[in-house]
Amino acid sequence: MKGATGTTMFLTILLYVALIAFGAGLLYKIFNWFRYSISVGRRDISTSRRLGAAVSGILSMLFSAKILTLLKVFVLDVVLNVRILREDVLRWVMHMCLYGGFVLLLLMHALGQYTSAALFDDYYSTINPFLFLRDLFGVVVLVGVVIAVYRRFILRVPSLMSKAMDVYAIIIVAVIIVSGIVLQGTQVVSYSIYKEMVEDYSAASGGEEAEALEAYWVNNYGVVSPTMKRPFDEGLVVRGRQVHEMSCAECHARSQWGFASYGVAKVISPIAGGLDQAKVHMLLWYIHWFACLIGLAYLPFSKMFHLVASPVSLLANAVMDRGRSDPANIATRQMLELDACTHCGTCTSRCSVAAALEEIPNLNILPSEKILAIKGLAAGRELTDRERKDLQEGVYVCTNCYRCTVVCPVGINLQDLWFNVRETLLEKGIAEFSTLCPLSFSRGLMKAEMVHTDYQKPLTKAREAIVDKCELMKVPDKVVPLTQADRAFKSRLNLSGQASTFSVCFGCQTCTNVCPVVANYDNPQEILGLLPHQIMHACGLGVRDLAFGSNMLWDCLTCYQCQEQCPQGVCVTDVLYELKNLAVEYASGNTGESEGRP
Ligand code: SF4
Ligand code: SF4
Ligand code: SF4
Ligand code: SF4
Repeated sequence: MKGATGTTMFLTILLYVALIAFGAGLLYKIFNWFRYSISVGRRDISTSRRLGAAVSGILSMLFSAKILTLLKVFVLDVVLNVRILREDVLRWVMHMCLYGGFVLLLLMHALGQYTSAALFDDYYSTINPFLFLRDLFGVVVLVGVVIAVYRRFILRVPSLMSKAMDVYAIIIVAVIIVSGIVLQGTQVVSYSIYKEMVEDYSAASGGEEAEALEAYWVNNYGVVSPTMKRPFDEGLVVRGRQVHEMSCAECHARSQWGFASYGVAKVISPIAGGLDQAKVHMLLWYIHWFACLIGLAYLPFSKMFHLVASPVSLLANAVMDRGRSDPANIATRQMLELDACTHCGTCTSRCSVAAALEEIPNLNILPSEKILAIKGLAAGRELTDRERKDLQEGVYVCTNCYRCTVVCPVGINLQDLWFNVRETLLEKGIAEFSTLCPLSFSRGLMKAEMVHTDYQKPLTKAREAIVDKCELMKVPDKVVPLTQADRAFKSRLNLSGQASTFSVCFGCQTCTNVCPVVANYDNPQEILGLLPHQIMHACGLGVRDLAFGSNMLWDCLTCYQCQEQCPQGVCVTDVLYELKNLAVEYASGNTGESEGRP
């Protein structure tokens, strides 16, 4: 008795530990939504301001017409998952089985004492419809697990990259359900459990009544008795049924209604005696219990947290407006979107540049993998050099085509994330030379949303670094005597096939005439210094400072119009691009061969 009390107390403590871990984890993750930001312009917004903005946003939405939108999205996207159905029917079936089955099982069975018991006066988990539904929901979840394993490991859907977190999630759910069903099966056949039940709840404590009841349960409920075997005398069974109806029927439906566990019971009945003696049902009970506790405690820190974050993300995106919503709420929404990702790979299956993975072996090119890498960056973790390079390449090898955002079933605005990561990397002083131009495509799309000083910062930093090394940049009007020709500079330019084409330039100025940057200014030379055709000429002369010092070099959009129009086939844009790289190497003191040089 003492031992049983000690075990019960130990299990109760474990349950509370798991509940505390779950609650604390949930609060921690939700608090992080309001604490961090991936957006440069919104990072200074305080947590309290963001919490206040969220509460006021929710309240104002509840009392506006947007509540109808919210209801529609809740029914179609959260409950029915129509977005997933549009993409892939098999995946939709899997999702509905896992999500629907698990939630119903949780509400009706795991939390039965608080939910089912509160709703139904005569609730017992061993009567119908609860007995039947428990097995039905369990089997539904198992079907979802089987489809998940089939898609990942047999069908090998190309866009599904299986990470450890995906495998853990599948294993935990499978262990909970399988152990639960097998446990029920061992309980059905267990003679010791039957005897305990008779002692506790039945008046048939001995003699003929007890014998009749046992015969009835062996005959109709699957109990395996060490002494009584079928077939029984019909009169004995009839008598047993009367005792059963007096003592047991009120709280026990036929075991067959629990069709999955009854199936297991039939399979194991030949060895039921041994299993009962070895108390295998106790072992299974512990496995089931610990798996549930681990699943509960681990949920906020695992991929399963998307069960909470995905619906919130869908609802938030349905009522938020990129242009008009409070920036504090946009920062919060972006953080919750990172938790909402289910790592389903839909975005990757539609990504315009996914095929580039064959040439560039960097998983961060794929949106579904990039978003995982961004989680660490958003939480302020310092990336290693390798991680940073991979992420940087990932966000720039992107055509801004928007397809990933359109198809994401949980409504994540991936486009905004890529933009914000680019800006975050630039803010950290990690330059990406193709975007230094204030008119560059990627940054230009963000211009309206950025603080002017932030927008100029990367370019200003790069120029400051070059100014230290290039005298010409310190001269306002750029009218200076030519510096001496730099043979080393010229010979390094000649290393690249594209860059060496400057030598055939005959100065027709077509490149300058078609250049949109040049056309942007009334008096371009004043702002830009040397124009494209003049830079080609400076290269020919080997005057490094003149070439590096021209603002044109840094303002080039990399639009390739000059290169396409050049009658001599000079790779004007490539020359400018390489010059930029050389200038940065030069400014950083690294004038050796660059590993990243084209
Ligand atoms: S971002 Fe969206 S589409 Fe891409 S893996 Fe995550 S949930 Fe799936
Ligand atoms: S926006 Fe970028 S990441 Fe998204 S689908 Fe297009 S190329 Fe891929
Ligand atoms: S268009 Fe070609 S040939 Fe003409 S100036 Fe430019 S680079 Fe030289
Ligand atoms: S690529 Fe050529 S045309 Fe385009 S901005 Fe640069 S210099 Fe001008």
